[in-house]
Formats: sequence, C-alpha cells, structure tokens
Amino acid sequence: MKQTEINKREKLKQEKPLVFAKILKIDERFQAGIPTPVVDICYNRICNLHCKHCFTTRFAKKTRSLTPSDLKKFSDEAHEFGLCQLVISGGEPLILKDLNEVITALQPDKFHLSMSTNGLLLTKKMAKNLKLWGLDKVKISIDDFDAKEHDHNRNHDGAYQKAMDALFNAKEAGLSVVIQTLITHQNCQTDRTVQMAKFAQENGFIVDVMIAHAVGQWEGKHELLIDEKDAAYMRQVHEQYPSLHRDTFPTYGINRGCGCVRSNLHLTQYGDILPCGFIHISLGNIFEEKLSEILQRGVSIKHFSKYNPLCLSGEDRNFINRYMTKFYNKALPIHWSEAFNAEDFV
Ligand code: SF4
Repeated sequence: MKQTEINKREKLKQEKPLVFAKILKIDERFQAGIPTPVVDICYNRICNLHCKHCFTTRFAKKTRSLTPSDLKKFSDEAHEFGLCQLVISGGEPLILKDLNEVITALQPDKFHLSMSTNGLLLTKKMAKNLKLWGLDKVKISIDDFDAKEHDHNRNHDGAYQKAMDALFNAKEAGLSVVIQTLITHQNCQTDRTVQMAKFAQENGFIVDVMIAHAVGQWEGKHELLIDEKDAAYMRQVHEQYPSLHRDTFPTYGINRGCGCVRSNLHLTQYGDILPCGFIHISLGNIFEEKLSEILQRGVSIKHFSKYNPLCLSGEDRNFINRYMTKFYNKALPIHWSEAFNAEDFV
C-alpha cells in the first residue's frame, strides 16, 4: 500500500473509527465478490453555473424528490450493507439552503463524506463549517490553469480564481482536497495533464480525472472520447506523479479497474440508482425497492458482475456503442429492461 493510502487511513482511524472499521473489510468483501460501492448522491440538480460539458441537464423531472429523511433512511440501509463512502454531488451542493441538514442526514460518523463542487461559494468560513458538520473531502472542478479557458467553459467570469481559492480554503480547514478535471482526447496528451498532476503533488492534493463521456451536453460526441494512447499517457503521468488518479487505477491497494455497481453507484434526485453517474440506466428506485435488492440486480447484469479493464461508459467502445447509445434522445434515466435483455444477465 502506498504511503498516501496509509496516511489517509490513519487520519480516518482517528476521526471516524466506525468508518475505518468498515474500510478494513473492503479487501475481504472484494475477494468474496460483495459490492462496496462509493455512492455519489445528486440530492438536487440546481446549480449556479451552466457548464458546457454538464451531464445532468437531460434528466426528466419526477414528482418525488429526495428529502433529508429519505437520505437518512438510505444511509441506514447503506451502513447496514457495509458501505463506507458517500459523495454529495449535484448540481452545486453549496447553494443548498438545507446543506447542514443534508450532511447530518447522511450520518457523518458512519461514512467518509465527500462533496463535489465548482468552488464558487467555498469561502474560508464555509470550509470550516463543512469540516465542523462532518465532511471529510471536497472535490473541486478545475478545467484548466488558463483562467480564461476555465471561465469560458463554466460561462462565468472569475470562476477560476474562486475555484483556486477554494482549494486552499478547504486545505486550511483540514479537509482533504481533490481537483476534479475533465480529460478529452483533445487535451489529454498535452502539458496541461502534467501541469495539473505536478501542481496537485506539490500542494498535497489529488487530481481525479474524469474522462470525457458522450452524454448530457456532449451526447453523441464520440470524437471527444479518449483512446488507448491517451490512457497509456495518463498511466505514464501517474507513474511520475501518483497524485494523478483515475477510478480505474488501484484504490485501497486493490487493482480493480472499472467497477460500476461493485465500486461506484449513483443516486439521482428522484431516487433512481444508476451503475455510475455516466450510465443513465436505472437499476431500480429506492422509493420502491431496498438498496440491497437493487444492488443484487446490478451485479446480476454481466457487464457489472465483474471489474473491467476499461471505463465502460467513456472508454469501452463496445459498451458505448451497444448500450450507452440506447439512452440517447430519451427521457433519462431509462429503465434497465430497456437497455438489457436476458442475454445480458449472468
Ligand atoms: S464506467 Fe467509467 S466512470 Fe463509470 S464507474 Fe466505470 S470507470 Fe468509473
């Protein structure tokens, strides 16, 4: 296990012993084939920006939306099942009026809690509050070190400077800091990738790479998807700067690959569970079924029953052409039965 992993675990052991105890079991669960996904929760899609690559805009409105009491019930089920990590995403969580209530409902003593944010409202005071309320980590989106490029992409002047300030406000408040950045085929093998990794390494941050997906605002834009050479380039940068990370790279010392359902899950504002935030196929809805039943359905679909060397949704052309295209031009998410037939089950 790398030193950074050891340090992270030691911090967690001190701050959240209940979570630490669950994390110790991940390896054993992995060997036994039991899924332990990190659940990304889109509590609300409202946002204060209009980014060019947004992938949440095409979700259809439903009558019932998550409330803090739904989150409490969900986190009880997740804890009972042995899950350890939750991520609050959106939309932009920092504009939520009931954010403190949302965090409390997710039971911070039982989970490692992260939040994805554009950083616009992540002031020093807000960072301190987040830490106080039980958050462990923030994931802040940085598109480019060229401020103009970032602001253009986010359609907001000054967004870059605020996001950069947010990184250091969060660090000062004792939160772990991750830079989320989007890598396309066009910007992958450029100095930008190395610059991002180097900056993170020097400042004690991690760079979480989100590869481009042909969904949402980019639906059908397959020319943006990375190829084998791009993937090899990122591996090479990771060798030099371990701070650069993809979710197909080893985590908790386990070399897994893409783990839709097994290691990643997404909960939409309307209660649908997706195999990951980019695969807009519902595996079930928490307002209708138990989380354990939905997970059972998920792992019985053969594409999600094992880990894959490639990111299914953004890299594996076979999966993309066969399944991702099934939800193009549709009200999202589509039901699992629209995407998978009997042959797709183990
Ligand atoms: S499909 Fe890609 S984004 Fe989704 S869990 Fe797998 S590696 Fe991650």
